[in-house]
Order: sequence, then C-alpha cells, then structure tokens
Amino acid sequence: MDQNMQVPFSSFLPMERKLGAQLQEAFSRVLKRSWYITGPEVTAFEEAFAAYCQVPCCVGCGNGLDALMLILKALGISEGDEVIVPSNTYIATALAVTYVGAKPVFVEPDIRTFNLSGKGLEEAITERTRVIMPVHLYGQPCDMDPIMEIAQKHHLLVVEDCAQAHGATYHGQKVGTFGIAAGFSFYPGKNLGALGDAGAAVTKDPELAAKIRALGNYGSDYKYHHIYLGNNSRLDEMQAAFLGVKLPYLDEMNEARREIAARYLSEMHNPQVILPFVQEGVTPVWHIFGVRCKNRDALETWLNRRGITTNKHYPIPMHLQKCYEDLGFCRGDFPVAEEISDTELSLPMYYGMTDEEIGKVVEAVNSFS
Ligand SMILES: *Cc1c(COP(=O)(O)O)cnc(C)c1O
Repeated sequence: MDQNMQVPFSSFLPMERKLGAQLQEAFSRVLKRSWYITGPEVTAFEEAFAAYCQVPCCVGCGNGLDALMLILKALGISEGDEVIVPSNTYIATALAVTYVGAKPVFVEPDIRTFNLSGKGLEEAITERTRVIMPVHLYGQPCDMDPIMEIAQKHHLLVVEDCAQAHGATYHGQKVGTFGIAAGFSFYPGKNLGALGDAGAAVTKDPELAAKIRALGNYGSDYKYHHIYLGNNSRLDEMQAAFLGVKLPYLDEMNEARREIAARYLSEMHNPQVILPFVQEGVTPVWHIFGVRCKNRDALETWLNRRGITTNKHYPIPMHLQKCYEDLGFCRGDFPVAEEISDTELSLPMYYGMTDEEIGKVVEAVNSFS
C-alpha cells in the first residue's frame, strides 16, 4: 500500500469525471434558453424527485433550511408552539423552528442510532406541542413506527428532516413519506447535491404544497398577488438542471456508499472503536459513517497523521451553541447529545472511493491503540 496516499474526507472528483459532460450540457441548455427562475427545469426536476420519493408533490426551495422552515410556516406553526427536534442534529433543524417563532424542544436520540426512536418523546409533549421533527441523521432512517404511533396518539404532525437521507428506506418505505411533509437539502456534499445551494419540500398534500410554493415565492400564488407574507426561496433553473442530471445516478451512488460501509463494518475490529449500529429493516444511505471512540481526539490525530481526513458531526451540541444561549441550557442537560459530540468521528465516505483508500482507512483504524 502507498504509505503517502492521502484519503480525503470527501471528494467530488469521481462524480465530476462521470457526470461532467452531462452537467456542462445542462448548463449550456439553460444558458441558451435564458430562463433562470421558475421554468421548465424546475418543473421537470420536481416531478422526477417526487416520483423518486414516491410522493405526489415536490416544491423546489433555495436550500434545506428554507424547505423545513417553509413547511412549518405553511402548517401555521408560529409563536407559542413547540416543535420536538432531536438534541443531536445539524443546527438547521432547530433554526427552522426558531425562524417561524416557535420553540425547539430537544429530545435525546438513541445513542446506538444517533436518532430519535420514540423513547423520551412522550415526556417532552406539552399542550403547546404541534410537531415532531425526526431527522434521519447520517442517512440512517429513524425508527418511524413508534414515532408515528406517538404522533397519532397525541394528534401531532410529523415533519421529517431528510437532508442527509435521500433514498433511505424504513421497512421498504422511502423516508420523507411518513409525515405530512419532509424537507430535503441539495447542498453539494449531500447524497444528492447541486452545484450550489438548493433544497426541496415533499408532501402528499397538494394544498400544502401550493402553500409552501407560494410562501417561497414572495407569498404569491399569482404574479403580483401576495396572499401571504412570503420569503424568496426558490430552486433556480440552473441547479434544477444539474440535479436532474444527478438524480438518475442517486441509487447507484448510494449503493457505492453502502459497499464502503459494508467493508468498514466487516473489516474494522478495534475494541476502542464503536461502529455504527444499523437497525433491522432499514436501508441507510450513509451520508456519514460515524464511529465513536472514548479517545476520539487521539484517534483523529492518528488518522490525520496517516493522511486520512476526518470530521466531527457535530462538535458542539445545539443546546450549548452560543446562538441558543437564551434557551438557558448548560452542560449536563442532554448527556446523550454531549456524549455523541465528545466521541463521534466521521470517516471518509464518498462515491468513487477506491478499494485501496478504503483499505487504508480500515488498516489505520485497526492499528490505533
Ligand atoms: C444540511 C442539513 C440541513 C440544511 O440544509 P441546507 O441546504 O444546508 O440549508 C438541515 N438539516 C440537516 C440534518 C442537514 O444536514
């Protein structure tokens, strides 16, 4: 093995090599048409992505955060309402709640799956609770059966954050189809990524879709008629065209991630390193391959010194972020989220990773002591 070989955390190069010509073609097509906002590329991609997700409606948005925020806004969630989010997620999940004026209520995830599981949910429900927002973090579907059961029992809506889980399934059903609506991000590094910022909301409810669309288009359902105080958050033609090129390859690219994960899971044997747990009946899409290690920082240094780039998702839990100071939390309030923040290390994972690169990561993790 080449000792000097560098293994990046992620790389777009293999994808660009495979799809570069088609992306160039899409660029030329949009440029030639000179139609950049709300045109045929967006419509075509929305239809294709809805079909992929097995839902009737998809509304393109400017990014994943806006998709979640516009869904909550369209559902009428506002000041005085509470929305349950996991204590361990990317900050966008909670920010979407804050931006509509509601209060994010953190519930601890299952330490094995890093996800909400139903445990601890009922204790967090008050008469102000309106929505449960499960996040299929790292591309691992949440245990949706207990979550849906609790939501139904308490008459709560479920809005899924699918920003890391395009194409993942739970008992054969695609994520994004369990709740009333779901938000997706097409940030470049996501499993389905644009060449810039982009996102989408999907839903079974055409009326809700129309409201989300209007809210993201200056509250307008008809040109210069503004029925809501809206935002400007539209998917643009260029990004929609790029996404249209990449969508047909999503399953293949997710499969490539599953093959990398399968090798990591079968070949890594280090008693100090806790490998990700995959719940029965789910098909994850491995947005992130996150291991846990008591000596996480030493493991990180060990891997980085061997030319392997790693990451942490996420180094500071939301309740300890400066921007959420006013929620009044301190260290010790969410021990599971804190434990994950203190011990999680994300290993290289991307479409086109070579066998040699995978082998190098395996070897480096196994030789850490
Ligand atoms: C990326 C991400 C978002 C936000 O998506 P953007 O497109 O970056 O706004 C929301 N939730 C989670 C869990 C994410 O990973």
